[in-house]
Amino acid sequence: MSRPSPLTSRLAGFGTTIFAEMSALANRTGAVNLGQGFPDTDGPAEVLEAAVTALRAGHNQYPPGPGIPALREAIAAHQRRFHGIELDPDGEVLVTTGATEAIAAALLALCEPGHEVVTFEPYYDSYAAGIALAGATRRPVTLRPPDYAVDPDALAAAFSPRTRLVLLNSPHNPTGKVFTRAELELVAAQCRERDVLAVTDEVYEHLVYDGREHVPLATLPGMAERTLTISSAGKTFSLTGWKIGWACGPRELVSAVLTAKQFLTFTSGAPFQHAIAHALGLPDAYFDSFRAGMQARRDRLCAGLEAAGLDVFRPAGTYFVTTDIRPLGEDDGHAFCLSLPERAGVVAVPTVVFYDDKEVGRPLVRFAFCKREEVIDEGAARLARLRS
Ligand code: PMP
Ligand code: GLN
Repeated sequence: MSRPSPLTSRLAGFGTTIFAEMSALANRTGAVNLGQGFPDTDGPAEVLEAAVTALRAGHNQYPPGPGIPALREAIAAHQRRFHGIELDPDGEVLVTTGATEAIAAALLALCEPGHEVVTFEPYYDSYAAGIALAGATRRPVTLRPPDYAVDPDALAAAFSPRTRLVLLNSPHNPTGKVFTRAELELVAAQCRERDVLAVTDEVYEHLVYDGREHVPLATLPGMAERTLTISSAGKTFSLTGWKIGWACGPRELVSAVLTAKQFLTFTSGAPFQHAIAHALGLPDAYFDSFRAGMQARRDRLCAGLEAAGLDVFRPAGTYFVTTDIRPLGEDDGHAFCLSLPERAGVVAVPTVVFYDDKEVGRPLVRFAFCKREEVIDEGAARLARLRS
């Protein structure tokens, strides 16, 4: 007799993340992996050296729960330098195990069972799981291609008296959308009117293209006092395996998140904390050339995907481009991605898994361009064979 699943009902249906599933498929089939968003080159050599130095200097025991002072100071300095946000490193900045832990800890710390969380779909998968773990309910506002514009009526309709917070990701994974100041103002107006908190995920803050600007929601009027701003070093320094993230904002919010965080990991990554403190102080030239390099890869992959016959929604930011596969005569993005390694030797991610509205997400497929140019070219050349 088979036993019922031991998994709690809160996590029923979450299974394995699409990123793990698709990277395993790439490894198994030898396909070009344009699925999971991780760079295939290392971060800056001097940051790697800083980690080695920290290891050798004996920074190998538990760092303080909120993070080492040098990193909290570097995060505060980064927020001032790039966004004009003033923070007290002592109480308004918390170091976390990647943005993932910051998001989960924020949801666990701030939501009661029965609360609702407004978020935009397609949503990053850990949001749905974090909301479920907290016993809350997600209220997605649907973004649709080609421009993924915010519909003010749909946004307003997602709020209710049970809304606890808005969980906003900009620059946005998987669409590559960068919320405009006007769109952020719509979100801020709802938060202020309804006295709702905001949690923002800004892990792609330095990957915004074509001269656009990344606007942290916390910089809008009346938002600093109700916004927890989350980011991490993974994307900005091409060090996704280090899992150094942070959450910043009003003392009471940061303190609440620390209460949850200390029972998840307590603390992590002692030598990496030292190295990221160094990384955050790199000159502007680093951030500029990093962004320019990724923008060039975006252009390269978009051109390749267009040549392969896909409908391409050119992203304003992030690592990712979404496409519509219908010009190829297909409309099931999930089936397409499962068969793609065999048909073309490429792995991509079906966007539908990030949508509750499956009809909108069904024909959409996400490709990552945070890869070496020869890998992008090889992937595009293989996809071009689908046409024939
Ligand atoms: N948020 C978004 C939107 C992401 O794409 C990712 C994946 N890198 C994360 C959070 C997780 O960040 P971290 O690796 O720092 O936990
Ligand atoms: N953020 C990465 C992506 O969207 C994946 C991170 C992960 O595997 N959890 O591809």
